Amino acid sequence: DSYRACPPTRDEIGASTWSLLHTMAAWYPNKPTREDKQLMSTFMMALARFYPCTWCASDFQNNVQLSPPRTETREDLCLWLCEQHNVVNGKLGKQLFNCTMNDLDERWRKSSSSKCQK
Ligand code: FAD
Repeated sequence: DSYRACPPTRDEIGASTWSLLHTMAAWYPNKPTREDKQLMSTFMMALARFYPCTWCASDFQNNVQLSPPRTETREDLCLWLCEQHNVVNGKLGKQLFNCTMNDLDERWRKSSSSKCQK
């Protein structure tokens, strides 16, 4: 039988989704247009609705309702997303990330270190 890739696991979907989200936030404009802000908020709400893990999605919907997406600036969005990820990290007993722009940019935008590995 020929090789076929398996559907992604919950952890794979999670790590890929966070990669996309944090990288997108890292490159979000410093001065977004009104349309940028609206689309980004809508994108996050749509993600919370359609995230392909039922109970993850339902918790994320509650979290987004408690703390709606902050899309005014790149920094706002990066920090908001970091906080959201930390809510999930806390729930799963994972280590919390230090939510500073320095650490976020180092992880998701430009690494000044040769220590980071691909
Ligand atoms: P991930 O948590 O996937 O993190 C990937 C990398 O992001 C880390 O290695 C680290 O370098 C970096 N990182 C970690 N924290 C932060 C932060 N706060 N800010 C910036 N960067 C950070 N799984 C469940 O089992 N139950 C759930 O309810 C659940 N809800 C989820 C909700 C959403 C919206 C998403 C996107 C994922 C959810 N997941 C959930 C998946 C879960 O968060 C992890 O992605 C999954 O467990 C794999 O974890 P990981 O150890 O690979 O690291």
